[in-house]
Amino acid sequence: PLISDPLVSGHAETIQVKDYNPTVNFIDDDAIWSLLNNNQHPDKEAVRQVLEKARRLQGLTLEEVAVLLQNQDATVDEELFAVARGIKDAIYGNRIVLFAPLYVSNYCANACSYCGFSADNHELPRKTLSEQELIAEVETLEDMGHKRILAVYGEHPRNNARAIVDSIKTMYNVRKGKGGEIRRINVNCAPMDTEDFKLLKTAAIGTYQCFQESYHRTTYEQVHLKGRKKDFLYRLYAMHRAMEAGIDDVGIGVLFGLYDHKFELLAMLTHVQQLEQDCGIGPHTISFPRIEPADGSSLSERPPYVVDDATFKRLVAITRLAVPYTGLIMSTRENAELRRELLSLGVSQISAGSRTTPGGYNQEDDAAQFSLGDHRSMDEVVLDLVKHSHSIPSFCTGCYRKGRTGDHFIGLAKQQFIGKFCQPNALITFKEYLNDYASEQTRKAGEALIAAELDKLSPARRRNIEACLTRTDAGERDIYL
Ligand code: SAM
Ligand code: SF4
Repeated sequence: PLISDPLVSGHAETIQVKDYNPTVNFIDDDAIWSLLNNNQHPDKEAVRQVLEKARRLQGLTLEEVAVLLQNQDATVDEELFAVARGIKDAIYGNRIVLFAPLYVSNYCANACSYCGFSADNHELPRKTLSEQELIAEVETLEDMGHKRILAVYGEHPRNNARAIVDSIKTMYNVRKGKGGEIRRINVNCAPMDTEDFKLLKTAAIGTYQCFQESYHRTTYEQVHLKGRKKDFLYRLYAMHRAMEAGIDDVGIGVLFGLYDHKFELLAMLTHVQQLEQDCGIGPHTISFPRIEPADGSSLSERPPYVVDDATFKRLVAITRLAVPYTGLIMSTRENAELRRELLSLGVSQISAGSRTTPGGYNQEDDAAQFSLGDHRSMDEVVLDLVKHSHSIPSFCTGCYRKGRTGDHFIGLAKQQFIGKFCQPNALITFKEYLNDYASEQTRKAGEALIAAELDKLSPARRRNIEACLTRTDAGERDIYL
């Protein structure tokens, strides 16, 4: 590596998870409502004090988050957005990591009343990709320039840990070593027992992602009608078990629309604190799905607690302040304009050119999980990022492959070292994308952005990165710090 750092060497094989009682619901509904009730109509000064603390990148307590959530003064909200932008710039710079979801199987034994894959949706054609179909999907994503996949599976005996591991191995092997291969596979699948999580870890996954959907137990039990997912506590402790199994990179989320958004945000941050307390590491990422219309689901057509765009922006901004070092993920579910705004407020990863059907990258969508808000191609998303958000689309997978995961990754972030790795790697992988996949228009716009970014660097750092860009131009691939 061009930058040597003692923290870069591999990460712990095991994570010390404290004794915990998986029969206890650590989400205390009354405590959350008290926080909200006790902080109604906060005055401007109280809100500004919270913003001042957040500016110092120290994160926020639940009480401070409640103050921000209860603020009704629009002028102070503008200050909130400005602080979120400042934190995003200080920690993440202007890079945006891109990924694509790959739906491997829509077989599902659960009946989640918001999801098109529900076992009660008898109209849905069911499919698990065969090995050949999986390879074809990965090749299509590789041809688009993707380097990161989020593999998605319904909860079904067919999609057991062994089958998931086999599919991940297949995906990693497509064009392996030939340049252009997928370099990181994150997984979104049902929670498992610790032993199965150990098996999952052997597939060299990136992040294990699983959303609680709703942290409000009564709501949770009302919308999950069938199958193992009905068990609220089994899902609530999924990340504890994943950590016990040595998976130190986990992603959590709420499906907004099921219950009160203020409650859900405070409860999700309670989950973050519980993981930090019991496992010593918080989540690597937080995702922000909102319910989208799904075939066969009347609930998804009329979600009980609609979160409008303005509220959604506030939720993302407040989360950026509360957990400044946690990556925030926006899916393709949001339309292009809103995504643009959310990027500036702190989102650090987005999906691009996505399909939500098994086999969807090689056929028309007829069995999608839900409909998408953004239909643009990868090249259009990249061009939009460059032109309108002045962001560097990043295809970097360096941290995970250098062992900068879990507590190491967060430790690095806390010391603001991300700029040392992420920014250079973003430029190098973006250059690779421009050379190999971009349209002429995107390539020109991208080259101009890279030149402008290089101008901002110190001479030594610039020399290092330019050397990597020259190697990339000469045909070398997969260079990263
Ligand atoms: N079956 C696994 C599970 O439920 O955790 C993983 C796959 S599931 C398709 C992934 C996520 O999709 C769920 O956690 C849920 O938040 C999201 N989802 C389901 N229905 C949705 C809808 N109508 N709109 C937006 N997101 C939805
Ligand atoms: Fe199945 Fe997951 Fe959809 Fe629920 S959200 S029906 S578990 S795929």
